[in-house]
Parts: sequence; structure tokens; C-alpha cells
Amino acid sequence: MRILIVEDDPTLADGLTRSLQRADYAVDCVHDGEQADHVLAAQSYDLVILDLGLPKLDGFEVIRRVRRRGATVPVLVLTAHDALADRVKGLDLGADDYLTKPFELPELEARVRALIRRGQSGGSSMLAHGPLSLDTSGRRATLDNVPLELSAREFGVLEVLMLRSGRVVNKEQLAEQLYGWEDEVGSNAIEVYVHRLRKKLEPAGVAIRTIRGLGYVLEKDS
Ligand code: CA
Repeated sequence: MRILIVEDDPTLADGLTRSLQRADYAVDCVHDGEQADHVLAAQSYDLVILDLGLPKLDGFEVIRRVRRRGATVPVLVLTAHDALADRVKGLDLGADDYLTKPFELPELEARVRALIRRGQSGGSSMLAHGPLSLDTSGRRATLDNVPLELSAREFGVLEVLMLRSGRVVNKEQLAEQLYGWEDEVGSNAIEVYVHRLRKKLEPAGVAIRTIRGLGYVLEKDS
């Protein structure tokens, strides 16, 4: 799950980034509306947390441009004070929810979870591969109908492999899904997650094959 934070107050931006990273989201952060617009035109996110009062391009204009491009990414707006007009305008332009500053981090995290769930419920959230099934909105996995315990990152790796089942997925694609720009991706972190997944999946005959120099493939016929 990848989140973009758009916030020009460095202390708040930092606090938000760290708290969401602790909750295992991949987080990118930009500090003005113009950067936000560029990044949103180029990359896909599962959620945008957007301050309204921003340098260069305000938050309203950022939402307007996102929706004009047809992007359905959920947008959570942060308003600086209890300004009803701002909230109404933000929601009218296509924001999905708002929080008034100052807010408590647990509340923000709850809103984030709800918005991401809602964003995903549009499409099918169940993935299946042989005895393995993944509920991508509930973040649950089962193997032979028995709940399978996975860390958030293991789940992320498996989700990407299942979405592209039978095709080769390279390490960069996996890392991109799991980490924000600022995170240090240990060169063998992906290998570690794949190794752990194999130990959990192989007893049930589900194989993740390494294609040397290319990446990994979840075998089609398990
Ligand atoms: Ca601001």
C-alpha cells in the first residue's frame, strides 16, 4: 500500500510519514502543490493525504487536476482550522474525507484504513492461486482454507506475485510496491521476504521460482 503525503509543514509531514511507515505503508512525501501534481500524474497511489494550504498550487487545484485526469485514488484532506467552507469545497471537488488540524494520529490512521478499504472495494479483492487465497482488502490469506500468518511486507510481495501469476516479476517491481522513496531498500530484503514465503507456501505445493537475473514467478500450476 502506497501513500502520498502532501504537506508543507515539515514537522507535521515528518510526523505523518513516520507514523504511517510504522503502520507498514510505503510513504512518499512532497511539500508543495506543484510537486504533488507532477507525482500524481506519474505514479499510482492507494491514498493521498492532502493539505489544502500549500505553496505554488493549493490543495483544491491539486484535487481538481487529479479528478480531471480521471484518477479515482482516495483523497483525505487536511484543513488548517475548522473551516466549513474549505471542507465543503474540498469534498465537492472530489475529496473523499477530511480531518481538521490538530488531529490525533490514531484517528488519522483509522481514516486511512477506512479509505484504503473503500478504494479497493470497487474491484474484486479476492485473489486465488491453487490452494492459496488472498483477501486484499481485508489483508487476510488462507492456504488450504487455513489462515496463513504473513507480515505486511510478506503479504505485499505475495499480492504482487499473485496479481501477475505466471509472469516474471522483477525485484524492482516488488520493491516499488513495498517501499517509499526515502526507505532504504536493503539489497537482499526482497530475497528475505521471498525466502520466508517459500517456507510457508511450499508444504502446500505453491512454488515461487527464481528466474536468474530476471526475478520471480509464482508457478501457474501448483
Ligand atoms: Ca499548509
